[in-house]
Amino acid sequence: MQFCDLNRQYQTNKIEIDNAIQEVIDSSSFINGRPILEFEENLQEFVGVKNAIACSSGTDALLLALMVYNVQPGDEIICPAFSFIASASMISFYKAVPVFVDVSPLDYNIDVSEIEKKITPKTRGIIGVSLFGQCADFDRINELATKYNLWVIEDAAQSFGAKYKGRQSGSLTDIATTSFFPAKPLGCYGDGGAVFTNDDGLADRIRMLRSHGQEERYHHKFIGINGRMDTIQAAILNVKLKSFLSEVKTRRMAAKLYSELLSDYILKPEENEGNESVWAQYTIGVENRSELKDALSDKGIPTAIHYPIALPKQKAFSLLEDYHKTFGVAELLSETVLSLPIHGLITEEEVKFVSNSVNEFIND
Ligand SMILES: *Cc1c(COP(=O)(O)O)cnc(C)c1O
Repeated sequence: MQFCDLNRQYQTNKIEIDNAIQEVIDSSSFINGRPILEFEENLQEFVGVKNAIACSSGTDALLLALMVYNVQPGDEIICPAFSFIASASMISFYKAVPVFVDVSPLDYNIDVSEIEKKITPKTRGIIGVSLFGQCADFDRINELATKYNLWVIEDAAQSFGAKYKGRQSGSLTDIATTSFFPAKPLGCYGDGGAVFTNDDGLADRIRMLRSHGQEERYHHKFIGINGRMDTIQAAILNVKLKSFLSEVKTRRMAAKLYSELLSDYILKPEENEGNESVWAQYTIGVENRSELKDALSDKGIPTAIHYPIALPKQKAFSLLEDYHKTFGVAELLSETVLSLPIHGLITEEEVKFVSNSVNEFIND
């Protein structure tokens, strides 16, 4: 069994994907080829935003979003204490200060009731992460941002395809970023990402920043980066987008089945009202995690730990004040979470097998 079966996914679309890759090679338009524009249009339609800007990774998408907001050394930016490091490290990359807020034990997302007390005159913005595929409570985050004149970024790296109160993840904030890393809900065959915004002015600047800040070739208006997506990745994503909704359905079926079958002695992830998670991960909480992980591994069931260290406790942040503070929920999660196999082509039988194996261990 695979944790995320990318080969099964490839086999179902093999001919179309092979053809799409071959067409790019035949055209020699490896950079800025037509599939890039097509993909951006597809994204705009799917997410329901005016501008989608394809880029080189989810990390670079965050880098670009912070660049367009002109983040300065010493600026404070609020972010959750439990996530993949990029949600916070890109803030530090600009020598700005990630100000961590603990997460909620119910949905693993930023605890909105804890945000306001962390806002100071130096606060510039909030990065909310939609972790494991479920959107954070962005209506409430946006309200706070309006009150204090802050910008909001949704890090939607894990939630592309999720819905919040009927709206698509990626359309909920001033700017949103996502990742097409192979194992994300929509993955390419290498690194890829995108930035979404309804603000045409910001979008124009992000497009320039993505390509060395140039307005036209070799005319550079801003200091930027090479943050472009490769044409081959866009060509693959255009094919994969066609079966994406069916994969989302399968992920949702699998999560529902896990929740029904798994023992009630386990902390199971829940969907908040108004949310439709894309279930990038199905992450449970157990006290004897390493024993369970080993027992499942013995049965050929791979699992993963997302994440073993609360973000403020990462060595990379050891110079921050937050490194020495307590983040109770994030720290507890880092010791107890375990992600079970889930992907867009997982079968009912596989979910049943994993669930039974977990229950056997728990009941032992
Ligand atoms: C994967 C991920 C990223 C980074 O995306 P890459 O494409 O790997 O650079 C950022 N934030 C979160 C929450 C992620 O899960």
